[in-house]
Amino acid sequence: MAVQQQINKCIQGIGASPGIIIGKAYLIERFKVRLPQKRIDSGQVEGEVKRFLNAVEDSRDQLAEIKEKILDPQVRKHSFILDVHLMILNDEMLLQDTVDRIRKKKVNAEWALDLTLEKLDTAFKAIEDEYLRERRSDLHYVSARIFRSLLGKKHDDISKIKGKVIVVAHDLSPADTLQMNLDHVAGFITDIGGKVSHTAILSRSLGIPAVVGLEVATSLINGGDPLIIDGETGEVVINPTEEVSKSFLERKRRIRSMDREVLKYASLPAETRDGVRVRLQANIEMVEEISSAKMHGAEGIGLYRTEILYLNRKDLPTEEEHFQTYRRLVENIYPKTATIRTLDIGGDKFLPDYSKNNELNPALGLRAIRFSLKETDIFKTQLRGILRASAHGKLRILFPMISGVEEIRQAKAILGEVKKGLTKAKISFDEKIEIGAMIEIPSASDIADILAREVDFFSIGTNDLIQYALAVDRINEHVSYLYEPLHPAVLRIIRWVVQSGHQAGIPVAICGEMATEPAYAIVLLGLGLDEFSMNPVSIPKVKKVLRMSRFEETRLLVEQLFQFSTASEIEGYVRHWMAKRFPEDFIQCDAEERIT
Ligand code: PEP
Ligand code: MG
Repeated sequence: MAVQQQINKCIQGIGASPGIIIGKAYLIERFKVRLPQKRIDSGQVEGEVKRFLNAVEDSRDQLAEIKEKILDPQVRKHSFILDVHLMILNDEMLLQDTVDRIRKKKVNAEWALDLTLEKLDTAFKAIEDEYLRERRSDLHYVSARIFRSLLGKKHDDISKIKGKVIVVAHDLSPADTLQMNLDHVAGFITDIGGKVSHTAILSRSLGIPAVVGLEVATSLINGGDPLIIDGETGEVVINPTEEVSKSFLERKRRIRSMDREVLKYASLPAETRDGVRVRLQANIEMVEEISSAKMHGAEGIGLYRTEILYLNRKDLPTEEEHFQTYRRLVENIYPKTATIRTLDIGGDKFLPDYSKNNELNPALGLRAIRFSLKETDIFKTQLRGILRASAHGKLRILFPMISGVEEIRQAKAILGEVKKGLTKAKISFDEKIEIGAMIEIPSASDIADILAREVDFFSIGTNDLIQYALAVDRINEHVSYLYEPLHPAVLRIIRWVVQSGHQAGIPVAICGEMATEPAYAIVLLGLGLDEFSMNPVSIPKVKKVLRMSRFEETRLLVEQLFQFSTASEIEGYVRHWMAKRFPEDFIQCDAEERIT
């Protein structure tokens, strides 16, 4: 229940899509449904099963209708998410398990579905990969729809939103977002979700400011409350005074002019003042993101994560699905190159049989290339799709989580077999396709000089590399203070990997989040990285800072950094250096006023 609010109440969430918005709250309370739990007798069982299946059918019809009604092409391109939801509604695991529960446990449909969800939830929670774990929300969106139908409750008709509002919800399903009249939505805020939740991905790609993970938004905010949201810092102010609104508006104005200024850099080459050229590329998960990548000046796709193809389905993607997806990717980015990373799944629990093999420590388990080398049929299907797409554009293959030479040799041997099969079948592909290794495990970085002889390029995945090198879980907020990109150990590792790659004559890329922070990008430039790949939105600001620098000065900066013994000394030195070197930009970022 929302409560009367004090003025200027500030709550902190995760900035999911940048931009500052002042507006009125539109509260959606759909997830707060009380579920009746009833035992039924044998005579009622089949009626209850029927009631459940009818509710599923209703939900299917509703989704199909929503999909049909989307006319805006900008919104329509995201409607594949509705297909994912329709697929979940056909999921054997969800349907049959619930029906079995009604029959065996003799409970009502709501209770049975709730129990099925609980079981699926446990499996999802064990997933280490943040992106994949977030997909469990799809299951909840779909179930909330079935619950509503079972309870005969109507869905909020949010398609009829009037005026410009800030949508406040516990969570937003893609179906919710897609059926809104987005002309009336100024921003989104949600209680749950992370940077890779659907709300975050969609709002970024639609350019609508959003803050997620606020935890208490729906309990603190009343419909109609005036709000300020800052999608960059994750701040939300409830009932702001005029003075506070003014200061945000002033900040918005400054950020706007800074963004306009920074966007000018999108189309310029990523070249330092002393003529060192690097490649700035985009990390994407969906082909639909290519337009954003291009708009922000990406010189290719440095990391295409393929996990999404395997999600929310009970079967595996076919070779044809792989081929069609990658073909769209390479054709859309042509004449630039796309780097496709093979499946980086966190254990086979995601695939059809995902209830088996529940690993206690999935980060160190059967994941990524280890999984592919064990399940070679799944691996070969993906490789055939990739190779076939290589005939339609420029593409290179990246193998994730390589820990030693044997793995890369085995992966290459399997790739060789797949190539042979295609040649025999007279199917064309790029015979000279380049292959690369992700460097994200310390054993791989230690032997980078040996690994470099085996591949055409390296891509350093600092998200995992920092996790494994410092023994700090990348998604555990209790140890996040130890997750230090400028730890001397991390800098030494990167320096060694770059030296090893260059000695072998291969380029070294970085595709971890670290590269999106201008101060870190400067350090990475000084360390000699050749390619930087990041979320598209971050490209212009990184390009700007690289273009304003001289490689030589960043090299000298890095030399200095190796004199220090701790991450905080290094961080302090770099921040100070940046503030001195780029006074305007850095004062702007660091000295923003904060409302407390
Ligand atoms: C990384 O580990 O840095 C990386 C880019 O891969 P992911 O975040 O998908 O693990
Ligand atoms: Mg990784």
